[in-house]
Amino acid sequence: MKNYKTPNTNLPTNSRRDFLNKAAAVSAVMASGSLITSACGNAEETSKQDKGTSVDMSQTYEWSLSTSWPPNFPVFGEGLSMFAKLIEEMSAGRMKIKVFGAGEKVPQPELFDAVSNGVIEMGHGASYYWAGKSKALQLFASVPFGLNAQQITSWVNNGGGYELWKEIYGKFNIVPFIGGNTGVQMGGWFNKEINSVEDLKGLKMRIPGLGGAVLAKAGGTAVSVAGGEIYTNLERGVIDATEWIGPYHDYKLGLYKIAKYYYSPGWHEPGTILDFIVNKQKYEALPTDLQAIIRAATAQTSTWIFSEFEVKNNQFLEKIKAESKAELRQFPDEVLADLRTKTQEVLQEQAQNDPDFQKVYESFLAFQKDASAWAELTEKRFYNQLQS
Ligand code: CA
Repeated sequence: MKNYKTPNTNLPTNSRRDFLNKAAAVSAVMASGSLITSACGNAEETSKQDKGTSVDMSQTYEWSLSTSWPPNFPVFGEGLSMFAKLIEEMSAGRMKIKVFGAGEKVPQPELFDAVSNGVIEMGHGASYYWAGKSKALQLFASVPFGLNAQQITSWVNNGGGYELWKEIYGKFNIVPFIGGNTGVQMGGWFNKEINSVEDLKGLKMRIPGLGGAVLAKAGGTAVSVAGGEIYTNLERGVIDATEWIGPYHDYKLGLYKIAKYYYSPGWHEPGTILDFIVNKQKYEALPTDLQAIIRAATAQTSTWIFSEFEVKNNQFLEKIKAESKAELRQFPDEVLADLRTKTQEVLQEQAQNDPDFQKVYESFLAFQKDASAWAELTEKRFYNQLQS
């Protein structure tokens, strides 16, 4: 037990000995085959890896996780409940995470600072919500006409993105982990027809982030509307159009009841990464096995969230088609081509004015070039064949 690490070094000697004996017993039990230990049964190896295999069962952690979503929000709420359960099970009860919806513990706009300052330990949201802190963070959520879900996940996980993401969030004392992906979103609900580029002029649309900047360049007005007010604003004509997520969430919000057209595709969000953000000191203070458990649980939750979107979206698109008078439309090619050109301009402008954005954008672009070449040869042909 020479490598045993206990935070309770101030215990009286006898109590400390008792404590260590109990911990040694627990450690022996764990070494006999628990999920938490390394799989090594060899005594010599166990001794070498003592640091990693000893578990102080008396040290427990209770964390709070605040989200950017209303309580029990479809997909995300379920995914986060699953995440909390996983953490508790994998840590054999040593770690518990309580999940709070937006505003239950921290108002959504204050989530970033609350995690950064350690007021709460974790958050769940999307990097583009924090463009006001660092414009570069937007590139880790979604880029108009950028990477799809599998591509952006590959860039972040294996293509150099994660190091940059950690660096940018690290400036704010935060460690990020992928927390799901929405897949390609829908273009949104419109009460005005979009037949040409001219129709974008004067269009008042709820569309956040880089997509909003692109719409503004095309002559529209990007309006910021909180999730809870979208329905009323569209119904009362305060806005002409709104994007939200995809058929499942859009259906739940009831947008199909009040809009004339439902446009595809979500050019502005081709595969949005959701993220877990964790206070850096709190994360680093955890024993290494709990850090690994957090990484594993975020990965499993992320896969579940992405899969749930893929399962639910078409089911709810069918419901929308059956129950709504809204017409399903596609943006004309001319409109998409124009928005794409304007996207390049917006991205160039942001890169020129922000060295961090420039650095991340270069990595993003290099990956996009490779991924597009591969997709051109493979997936593009596959989808074209599927559709014919
Ligand atoms: Ca959206």
